[in-house]
Amino acid sequence: MGYVILWLVAAAIGELYFLLDQNASRKRAVFPVFMFGLIGAFVVILSFLGAPAGVLIFCTICGVAIALVSINRVRFCDNCGATVGLFKTGISPAEKCSRCDAPLRK
Ligand SMILES: [Zn+2]
Repeated sequence: MGYVILWLVAAAIGELYFLLDQNASRKRAVFPVFMFGLIGAFVVILSFLGAPAGVLIFCTICGVAIALVSINRVRFCDNCGATVGLFKTGISPAEKCSRCDAPLRK
């Protein structure tokens, strides 16, 4: 159970970083690493907890799908540095920054 709490703390710190850091290009570089790192850590924790191989494979596939959707959906504003779409549901990315209304690019 301790691993799970550690993982949740790491995820929360990561999200906080993406909300606080205003450097869009740095966040754009860090975000995929963060997402796949979290997924990888989650699967490792599950295997520590004795999850069967089928569960691990299923979680890996779901986790990669979630990571890819998030990476596509979350945008970083070059104008003001905001993170847009981190807590948004759905798969389509925002076209404009929610803070400064500047158009967003990938
Ligand atoms: Zn903006």
